[in-house]
Amino acid sequence: MNDLSDDSADLMMDFESDNYFMQMALREARKAYKANEVPVGAVIVRDGSVIARAWNQVETLKDQDAVGDWRLEGCTLYVTKEPCPMCAGAIVHCRPDRVVFGCPDEKGGAAGGWINLLESNPPLNHRCDISAGVMQEECVALLQSFFREARDRKKAERDLIRKQAEEG
Ligand SMILES: [Zn+2]
Repeated sequence: MNDLSDDSADLMMDFESDNYFMQMALREARKAYKANEVPVGAVIVRDGSVIARAWNQVETLKDQDAVGDWRLEGCTLYVTKEPCPMCAGAIVHCRPDRVVFGCPDEKGGAAGGWINLLESNPPLNHRCDISAGVMQEECVALLQSFFREARDRKKAERDLIRKQAEEG
């Protein structure tokens, strides 16, 4: 018995592959976490295969040298956190077809959270489709636990310094 039409099977594949590639971006984010850096990861996918992966260097996307003259037509960028305006500018410059992100950023996101640079036409001459909130829980949890640990570490350092000062 097979009551799935070809169309719905394709749709299911698409859904699974967004999660699949976001998992890979999360893997990159965990590398940043291990290196004590803000856990943001990204992969770039063309025709179902990963052509680039990065952690934290996501932020260096805003540095034109880092992306050079990359042309990402036909590509999808999976990133664990919504890009900021500077990253979004660099992304649009590379012209990927789609940007998929996990953790939305209402305060500083430039893919619809705060503003939307990816889907606006002028003054930027490229428009990316956006999919938001893919594996959102996992992406948010990773960032939250990173910042919680960073806070705890800072507090422990402060306590130690205070203790040392008290002990003279
Ligand atoms: Zn950025």
